[in-house]
Amino acid sequence: MKIIAIGRNYADHAKELKNTVPSSPVIFLKPDTALLKSGEPFYLPDFDSEIHYETELVIKISKEGKHIEEKFASRYYEEISLGLDLTARDLQTRLKEKGLPWELAKAFDASAPMGQFIPKSTFENIQDIPFSMKLNGKLAQSGNSSSMIFSVDYLISFISKRITLKKGDLIMTGTPEGVGPIHIGDILEAYLGEELVLRTEVK
Ligand code: MG
Repeated sequence: MKIIAIGRNYADHAKELKNTVPSSPVIFLKPDTALLKSGEPFYLPDFDSEIHYETELVIKISKEGKHIEEKFASRYYEEISLGLDLTARDLQTRLKEKGLPWELAKAFDASAPMGQFIPKSTFENIQDIPFSMKLNGKLAQSGNSSSMIFSVDYLISFISKRITLKKGDLIMTGTPEGVGPIHIGDILEAYLGEELVLRTEVK
């Protein structure tokens, strides 16, 4: 399986990192070795002084598809969750300045803690899902999928016209504003609607 992640899909987050709002989706990949199961600890790596959390709605692809029309995209996912797009921010800033790919800052081991998946039918509208993340019990990020620049179904269509989607692939749909650094001892808990779906401790 592969993880396809979307950058700058919320205007307020693009602004907080002083990026322009994109006119087409910004995409990067994380390998399957980036996955970290909810409940398992995240060990802070030593190659960057600042690892940031980014809390993102995640779509699990339920069947193979390519060249998917946007109007049929909802047939290709049944379950959703939240994930953390952990980012080595100093490194990413340096890579961005040089116009280099982001993978060293985005695709490292355990850089994608992933929550438990729940049926999309839990929510009436995929583009109106509230979610939040508490850092040590305090609200750190909150967002709603209604604020996405590119909708879930648009993203699935866009990606599938270039990269075949397979059953089990995960799409991380971008973070709202409020990203920040993590430190040893931090506990991160992510809520999809009211439901706690992801918990990890930083070690
Ligand atoms: Mg992200």
